[in-house]
Amino acid sequence: MKLLLIYPPFCTPTTLPYSLVSLKHFLKTYLDLEVNLLDLNAEFHKRRFAKYYQAIKESKTKEDYAEIFTNFDKESREVYAKNNRAVLQGKDPEYFQEIFSLIKTEDYDMIACSLVYNSQCFYATGILKELHKKGITCILGGPAAKGKVLEYGKLLKDEHEILKFFTEKGIKTKQGDFYASSNPLDFFDCKEENYLSKERILPIKTSSTCFYKQCTFCTHFAKVPYKEYEIAWLENTLKQNSAKYVFLIDDMLSKERLLAFAEICKALKVQWACQLRPTSDLLGISKKLYAGGLHSVSWGVESGSQRILDLMKKGTDIEKVPQVLKESHDTGIQNILYIMFAFPTETKEEFMETINFLEKNQENIDLVCTSIFGLQHGAKAYESPEEYGIIEIKEKQRTVLEGSITYKIKQGITNKEARILQKKVQNRIDKINKIPKVFKCSREQVLLY
Ligand code: SF4
Repeated sequence: MKLLLIYPPFCTPTTLPYSLVSLKHFLKTYLDLEVNLLDLNAEFHKRRFAKYYQAIKESKTKEDYAEIFTNFDKESREVYAKNNRAVLQGKDPEYFQEIFSLIKTEDYDMIACSLVYNSQCFYATGILKELHKKGITCILGGPAAKGKVLEYGKLLKDEHEILKFFTEKGIKTKQGDFYASSNPLDFFDCKEENYLSKERILPIKTSSTCFYKQCTFCTHFAKVPYKEYEIAWLENTLKQNSAKYVFLIDDMLSKERLLAFAEICKALKVQWACQLRPTSDLLGISKKLYAGGLHSVSWGVESGSQRILDLMKKGTDIEKVPQVLKESHDTGIQNILYIMFAFPTETKEEFMETINFLEKNQENIDLVCTSIFGLQHGAKAYESPEEYGIIEIKEKQRTVLEGSITYKIKQGITNKEARILQKKVQNRIDKINKIPKVFKCSREQVLLY
């Protein structure tokens, strides 16, 4: 059997698609299948935004680099919105026939579609509809495989379901080990020139899920047991792909994992970035991490108010966070901060506590990425809304995406009030930033800035 894995537009084409590469690796390790992959998102962008690809390759200074991304970000948002509207109106999005023809349906028995972001679901609906018309079997997977797309393919939720599906179709299983050091991931199918980046940045995952799994707003982590992947496998993956820049997509990393990864990166001269909680157990290791190539950390700081952090079950101490940021900054590591406003019951005073915290620690902050809390299926705040003063939860049907959730709160500022407050203080936040704001949307690019 011959299977094609596709990754539909639209998401930022600045890094390689980990979901597709690791799925191919899984299928080839455990099943007797012929598998190819096709990053249609990169193919779309290479055609539609050719001028930016050219400009990135020719850019000489980091200011140029940031400007190109700023212009690309503005234009691409408009293009995505226009094309999503086209799909909603039953029309073909841009480059549809050309992109669809890359699938070469006559060569495959089945197509598997990986959906990581909601923004991929519109173009994917067009593609899946067309495949459905041709009578081609499609399977779907990924965190965004919800809503309308499910009408056109069979959802396989995890590795167990994938193996069951194919063995029932008569495909033989193989004895293999996904994480054997002799079986590294390979990104060779993803041509470097298809990605909007001056250098190739590899997305790498070092563990199965977040080991902490307690933040009450969070739906990111996979609900699977925590497992750390073999260091020898990670090392060979970096070697096999001649990695120079790596963005760790782990939701969280333990201190031991950080040190072990830094050790292999030091020897291979790899620069990397990761996401962490600012906990005090990390104090004292920054120098080793920096020497091991750590360039940038995105910290889940979320709030400057200890009451809100406790309600979020963030497990961090706001008194200790400045020390963690200072040590990291003094060592030479870039600090990017995630901040979340309007967590249920947050007051205006607590909102301002966060702004004051940011200003007080601005010397050690390179970029602030803000968001407004949203209630999502699977989050602890959704499962026990009464604990957070959340009332009147409603779900509104949408055409392509799964329903959107609205709610009211018994006390604290609403999302609307938080947006108004944020507008008022945005210039104060902007003054803190030393890295251009555009890199909030393609954070891995800070490795090259
Ligand atoms: S926010 Fe981060 S640390 Fe908290 S549960 Fe989610 S993934 Fe884990």
